Parts: sequence; structure tokens; C-alpha cells
Amino acid sequence: MVAARCPGCGYVYEVAAGEEREGFAAGTAWRDVPDDWTCPDCGVRDKVDFVPLTSEAAP
Ligand SMILES: [Zn+2]
Repeated sequence: MVAARCPGCGYVYEVAAGEEREGFAAGTAWRDVPDDWTCPDCGVRDKVDFVPLTSEAAP
């Protein structure tokens, strides 16, 4: 798994890029993201709602 997409707004968390504004360094694995983490863009969807993306499906 290399990325995960928010089903609400389309935000994509990419493992290779991380999410600096959320405190996740580049390369932070999805499993290391807290389960209570919410989408930084819409703030509505939780981590469990995100759709896993494989390398083939990633944009
Ligand atoms: Zn979202």
C-alpha cells in the first residue's frame, strides 16, 4: 500500500511524501498513522474511512 484516498473530498495521503503539516515525515507508513487521525482537508473522514491505493491505482 503506497497511498490512501479520502472518500469524502479526494485528498490522498502518499506514504512516500508523508504529510508534513500533520507531523508525518516522508515515508511514514499508513499503519503508523494514528487510527483517530482525520482527513486534513475535510476533517470529516477518519483514517478507517480512507480507501487504500495500490501502486497500480495511485494517480
Ligand atoms: Zn477528506
